[in-house]
Amino acid sequence: MSHPSVSRSRIVLASGNAGKLAELRALLAGSGVEAVPQSDYAVDAAEETGATFVENALIKARHAARISGLPAIADDSGLCVDVLGGAPGLHSARYAGAHGDDDANNRRLLSELEGLVEGRRKARFHCVLVLLRHADDPRPLIAEGEWHGRIIDAPRGAGGFGYDPLFLDPEQGMTAAEMPAELKNRISHRGQALRALKSKLAGWP
Ligand code: IMP
Repeated sequence: MSHPSVSRSRIVLASGNAGKLAELRALLAGSGVEAVPQSDYAVDAAEETGATFVENALIKARHAARISGLPAIADDSGLCVDVLGGAPGLHSARYAGAHGDDDANNRRLLSELEGLVEGRRKARFHCVLVLLRHADDPRPLIAEGEWHGRIIDAPRGAGGFGYDPLFLDPEQGMTAAEMPAELKNRISHRGQALRALKSKLAGWP
């Protein structure tokens, strides 16, 4: 089923996270869509009351579409660590308490995994993207991506955001924070989800 009215138009990015916004804008560059951050429309943070990434992405997209009156894309994502039963998961942004304190979140993650051997440090980033043409759209487009790696025992690299300095992609031999942005966007959970979303949109380049 296609959503032709979405292509070649303005879309609100339903996020206040600077790292996510930069990646989403880079991923959408050249697609014919003008992606604007929700702050341009004075959209505040939605209350993330869902129990899953999908629910929270829907909540955020609906909130931004309602206030802006425009189509909206929301990203709900997080880091799931096998040995921690999938934590921090939905709570990734506030694992150490305060929302968005990346350094504190990384410190907590390191302390939870302290002393664990390499084989017990498997983790994955998960990303759900939701696109709504309008706030009451009964046909949301939903796409997901997952990126597998492991958590190292000290931060490496200065790029990216969030848990990137601790997340090693063994195939690349680099943490997400050591990668050029183009490489991260090509292989990441967010890059995969955006490609899947685009492939669901008829008329999208
Ligand atoms: P959300 O805004 O509730 O979806 O929370 C997302 C959180 O997951 C971020 O604040 C980061 O802590 C983490 N996260 C999601 N994607 C990434 C990524 O690409 N790199 C590093 N951390 C990420």
